[in-house]
Amino acid sequence: MATTDRQAKTLALAHALSAAERGLAVIPLSRTKLPALRSPHRDDPSHPPCHGECGRFGHGVYDATTDPARIRALFAAAPRATGYGIACGLPPHHLVGVDLDTKNGTDPGAALRALASRHGFTVPPTVVVLTPSGGRHLWLCGPPDVVVPNSAGRLAPGIDIRGAGGYLVGPGSRTEHGTYRAAPGTAGLAPAPCPPALLRLLLPPPRAHHPTPPSAGDHGQGLVQFVLAAHEGLRNTRLFWAACRAYEDGIGPELVEPLVDAARATGLSEREARATIASAARRTGR
Ligand SMILES: [Zn+2]
Repeated sequence: MATTDRQAKTLALAHALSAAERGLAVIPLSRTKLPALRSPHRDDPSHPPCHGECGRFGHGVYDATTDPARIRALFAAAPRATGYGIACGLPPHHLVGVDLDTKNGTDPGAALRALASRHGFTVPPTVVVLTPSGGRHLWLCGPPDVVVPNSAGRLAPGIDIRGAGGYLVGPGSRTEHGTYRAAPGTAGLAPAPCPPALLRLLLPPPRAHHPTPPSAGDHGQGLVQFVLAAHEGLRNTRLFWAACRAYEDGIGPELVEPLVDAARATGLSEREARATIASAARRTGR
């Protein structure tokens, strides 16, 4: 058993390193498909929101990296890892995962074809990962200036979307239900750009009332709206990603106050909001 576990981990690490070579940021996963490293703050509920700025591992998808040395360190700290997760929404691919899940007796493939014909798009040839339960993950690329949120069953029953803050179980991962594998002939493909008509279906609906950032333009306004549309469980994640985008795009400083206002409108405290935006500033090196 011990040998098998070690072999599983060695294999997972090898697959994770080769994904990283393709520009995909990875984290180690356990057999249950959850991040293999537990939060260093799990025994301290009063710890302020942390996305890794404490310098330790165990922040889920925020640990994700393409740096081979750091990937080796993550796996070294995770003896029970048997797989790896690929973070969505990060440059250079801005990966969007379309998760077609057959578990509930639905036929999400047919649902996707119906959506495609109704909205006039074609699903392009791209990487497809086969899940042990008979499902499929399609890998697509989003444009760099758009934050695609996670959603479950919003497009159609059985179709989940993995976007910013989400991750996909990488091919070669072993889980308690079996091994994830690239569909024959797709492993070597680059993730194809998400068709614009599909992308429109993935974005949060615009809000009627929203504060207008002073001079950050449409992009900044889009980020503010993205935060405003957050449900309770995703408020902080959305704020973090919106702030990362803002800093990456050079409009971070002018968007701080509009983002704080938007986060407070969703129910976050000002202190939480400012801490999360400061994390984003540090994460993006600003
Ligand atoms: Zn931390």
